[in-house]
Amino acid sequence: MSDLLDNLNLEQYSAVTLPNESALILAGAGSGKTRVLITRIAWLISCGEVNATDILAVTFTNKAAREMLLRLSKILTLNTNSMWIGTFHGLCNRMLRAHYRDAGLPQDFQILDSADQLMAIRRLMKSLNIDDEKYPAKSLQYFINNAKEQSLRPAEIDASDNHNRKWVELYSAYNQQCQREGVVDFSELLLRSYNLLQYNPALRAYYQTRFKHILVDEFQDTSKLQYAWIKLLAGERNGGIFAVGDDDQSIYAFRGAHAGNMLDFEREFNVQHLIKLEQNYRSHGNILDAANVLISHNSKRLGKNLRTNACHGKLVQAYGAATDSQEASWIAGKVQTLIDTGLSPDEIAVLYRSNAQSRIVEHMLVNAGIEYRVYGGLRFFERQEVKHALAYLRLINNFNDDIAFDRVVNFPARGIGTRSLEQLANTARTYNCSMMQAIPYMLGRAGQLFNEFLALIERISNNTRAMSLPEMVEAVISLSGLEKFYANKPESQERIENLRELVNAASAFVVEEGYNLMPARSILPVCSTENYAVILGENNNNKEKTGAALPSIEELQKNPNQITPISDFLSHASLEPGDNLANTRKNVVQLMTVHAAKGLEFVAVFITGLEEGLFPHENSAIKKDALEEERRLMYVAITRAKESLYLSFAQSRMLHGKTRYNVRSRFFDELPTRVLQWTTPRTKSNLSKRQRTSLDNNYADAYFNDNTIALKLVNQNQCTQSVFQIGKSVFHSKFGEGKITELEGDGSDAKARVEFKRHGTKWLALAIAKLQPA
Ligand code: ATP
Ligand code: MG
Repeated sequence: MSDLLDNLNLEQYSAVTLPNESALILAGAGSGKTRVLITRIAWLISCGEVNATDILAVTFTNKAAREMLLRLSKILTLNTNSMWIGTFHGLCNRMLRAHYRDAGLPQDFQILDSADQLMAIRRLMKSLNIDDEKYPAKSLQYFINNAKEQSLRPAEIDASDNHNRKWVELYSAYNQQCQREGVVDFSELLLRSYNLLQYNPALRAYYQTRFKHILVDEFQDTSKLQYAWIKLLAGERNGGIFAVGDDDQSIYAFRGAHAGNMLDFEREFNVQHLIKLEQNYRSHGNILDAANVLISHNSKRLGKNLRTNACHGKLVQAYGAATDSQEASWIAGKVQTLIDTGLSPDEIAVLYRSNAQSRIVEHMLVNAGIEYRVYGGLRFFERQEVKHALAYLRLINNFNDDIAFDRVVNFPARGIGTRSLEQLANTARTYNCSMMQAIPYMLGRAGQLFNEFLALIERISNNTRAMSLPEMVEAVISLSGLEKFYANKPESQERIENLRELVNAASAFVVEEGYNLMPARSILPVCSTENYAVILGENNNNKEKTGAALPSIEELQKNPNQITPISDFLSHASLEPGDNLANTRKNVVQLMTVHAAKGLEFVAVFITGLEEGLFPHENSAIKKDALEEERRLMYVAITRAKESLYLSFAQSRMLHGKTRYNVRSRFFDELPTRVLQWTTPRTKSNLSKRQRTSLDNNYADAYFNDNTIALKLVNQNQCTQSVFQIGKSVFHSKFGEGKITELEGDGSDAKARVEFKRHGTKWLALAIAKLQPA
């Protein structure tokens, strides 16, 4: 056990070995918070103080949860599957699965991701003939999620004025639709699980007794509802919550995160142990210096310092480009140099404020022949072909899943038109049943087509009844016609590969979850909705449940895993980013938004697009709090770097189809000059006070077009376009011989279209592609 504690400093040691009382570990980036949390779990178990199943630990991402389980399984020899370690959503899902009856849900309830939720809302609005100009679906989605985040059910919202009344009515109708279809959205997972504990004293008491220790990482980004959930689990006892966080890294206010939870926690849980970790183990001195000085510009801070024993290291490199493509070529060049000097590509991260910025960086990396991987973007499980396959799986698992029905009833095409679908939806409404159940009422040609679809689903369902999950996924892809459909399209090679990857994902899943020998499905009992009204709080205000309906504690302790492999896999597909799947080679350069980089670390980090209006984001011009949040985001970005940090901006950038003219971000001016090394001549770009005020007040495009602030930068990459002409043969180190067929742009933006003999046609940036005349 002493090995466990050997590599900790004094403060870390005392945090890990604290008695079972509430504690707040407040510490800056890279000071070992996550390490302390994991070590404490291992320590508690290895001391024999608690069993692994007595611990509940919440992390911010699935990736972090997986890493935590992996590290624990290395430290301790135990089956980590039984441990309650995961994200808030993952843990709430687990709780609802175990107690689906009490939660008023069908056993095989499905989870809607936000795209599915929007589709469900659109369908609802259509069925109710709601004018979507007056009540846009996206606004309703926001209204619903926001209400749920504040734990408000429709009956609890003031609907006295006409306008609000309509929103509340729609919210209620949406809940009814979800309940009928046996689906829950992301916010519902949290709220339903919260309500379950709130209104069921026996369950609440069971979990309060069971979880002797509750540990929360990234506590600064918990929302009010998440905090309330934790509070319910903790109960009246005066201890057992171990929260680690950094107020300077609170970056999810826009999604309901409430950094004030840290202060509430200190007060409400009577925190006796407030431990600050002040030694940073991640970054070299100059990087840490930059981070500390930057964040000192924020006024709302709980206050702490970070120091390091590491050397100063390299200066932070800063670069101002004329255009976004020039900025991206500079990045590609620097990345190549880092790789050439022996740095592993996955130790290099390119970070940006918004996903749209990745395109130009990707383009330049492709041209330079550098492999990369984009995190975030579209999740594996959200890709069109994967969603289609999952929809078939959902349908055979639950015939009444209208969202899945909608998605695949005419995919691959079966000649079913929009009008026939509308008729079917009307019939379903008339008989208050699902679309599938309404099919027998349909007559004529449309009726025949729908019946063929019904027969197809029944056939797939019967043929796969005894199969294991991976066999079932494979069979569904083939029997549904998806495989044939994509195989007939040469451009769909990648989609076919993704479908194969889905089978692999199912195989890995059954092994990890211990389902490998089980059939994927069982005959499920019909959904019980007896608890629905109570849980949703639609009918009465006095909701606490008592008496006979409660499960006994013995029953709960058995905690049977009632979920079937197929339902579990479908939840997994909704909650997991699927970052490890499909075309995701491991050892490549990592591209992601700053938000996605939270908690991670890399040897070299590029922070790109540091322009006013982009980073800090233009929304922050309106509110001071928002600007402070942007600064925290920048702090998070800087502190991801261990040894090398590169900052860059571009004077002009093409974003969302428009060219924007930018000034460099104020964050450059907030960094100490002693740590910055400009690789372009340091420009006098600093805004005058008047200009800054004007910018703060208004980010109007007109301002960006104003020449008074245009920067004149030396165009570094003087291009050698004249050497290359259309028709000339050229040689590329990776793609071999080819011929130029088109030229475009000039200077550093010059690009050539080259038809390579063995690698097809490619557009290459001449400034970095290192083409040679053949
Ligand atoms: P963040 O705020 O970014 O989430 P953190 O506070 O959670 O950071 P960790 O990720 O736990 O920090 O640790 C940062 C790095 O420092 C990791 O590589 C970790 O292994 C290392 N580290 C932490 N404590 C020590 C220590 N006592 N000795 C050596 N290395 C340490
Ligand atoms: Mg951490």
